Amino acid sequence: MGDGIGPEIMEATVAVVNALKTSIEWEYQEAGMAAVKLYNDPLPRNTMESIRRNRLALKGPLMTPVGGGYQSINVVLRKELKLFANVRPAYSFLPDGLFRDVDVVLIRENTEGLYVGVEHYIPIGDDPRAVAEASGIITRFGCRRIAEFAYQYALKAGRKKITIVHKANILKALTGLFLETCLEVGRQYQDRLTIEERIIDNCAMQLVINPAQFDIILTTNMFGDILSDECAGLVGGLGMAPGANIGAEAAIFEAVHGSAPDIAGKGIANPTALMLAAALMLDHIHQHEKAERLRTAIKQTLHDDCVRTPDLGGEASTAQYAQAVVERMSQI
Ligand code: NAD
Repeated sequence: MGDGIGPEIMEATVAVVNALKTSIEWEYQEAGMAAVKLYNDPLPRNTMESIRRNRLALKGPLMTPVGGGYQSINVVLRKELKLFANVRPAYSFLPDGLFRDVDVVLIRENTEGLYVGVEHYIPIGDDPRAVAEASGIITRFGCRRIAEFAYQYALKAGRKKITIVHKANILKALTGLFLETCLEVGRQYQDRLTIEERIIDNCAMQLVINPAQFDIILTTNMFGDILSDECAGLVGGLGMAPGANIGAEAAIFEAVHGSAPDIAGKGIANPTALMLAAALMLDHIHQHEKAERLRTAIKQTLHDDCVRTPDLGGEASTAQYAQAVVERMSQI
């Protein structure tokens, strides 16, 4: 269910997926702060075993306290289950949003780079934390794996262009290897896809000037983390952005946003991102027609019925919005 707004948006999402009459049977497991309270363990063994067994999970947001010895459970899950590809689509569902023509999929390498967590302090004199040092680790194997995934994804999804995003002008080894390998793997796809490259800072600016020029963005772990929130902002905010973490043996689907402690328990959180993540999960298990029905119902609820949660300027509660989506689905 997750922390903060997790239980509220999960309840809404499960109701909507159940209304689609899929073959999914739910098994509930705890993680994050909720699991710490219950079992004094943020990632209980039962939870890991359940994901390994089912090879599929829909996950609520998990809170990670800043600093002080807590490792992000999201990072642990990605590492342990080797969920190397993070897929985050951003699509303009809102007719009155900032941009009406955004349809970009961000594909982020999920296990390497500066997020490997290799960091430490160096003491100087009586200051035990005088210097902080972090290492980024990128491997040719990891770059090949994510590049291959991205090109294959593009072909299957009928996409036309991939933009490789890097900072190889400054981080010449770390992101230079990423760029070089993605371009090398791309050679066998260049007859079917347009492959271009962009420096991260330029890409961040281009995204707010003309986001429609992007089709698929392929990038490293940290750049992908930042750019995917930017992409979410282009299409109405974090409440609209789903994500999939995919590996060879398991896949976890979630909203891009966190546990939103500022609005938790108020019943006003926007469940769209988690619902769209559920749609990605349905795509993953080849139930495309159901996934498409869910996306169409969400679109109609936001467009035609104008039923929206407060983050999108509406007045609907999480439960009212979910009910409106269910009603729309019954008419499709
Ligand atoms: P956040 O995404 O939780 O919230 C940022 C802002 O967006 C807040 O103002 C929040 O109210 C709003 N928001 C987010 N989701 C919303 C929704 N569905 N509907 C309406 N408004 C929404 O980011 P944060 O505050 O930086 O992080 C809170 C916690 O979540 C932290 O502990 C962080 O580590 C964790 N986190 C978890 C994940 C994950 O589980 N995948 C991702 C990001 C952050």
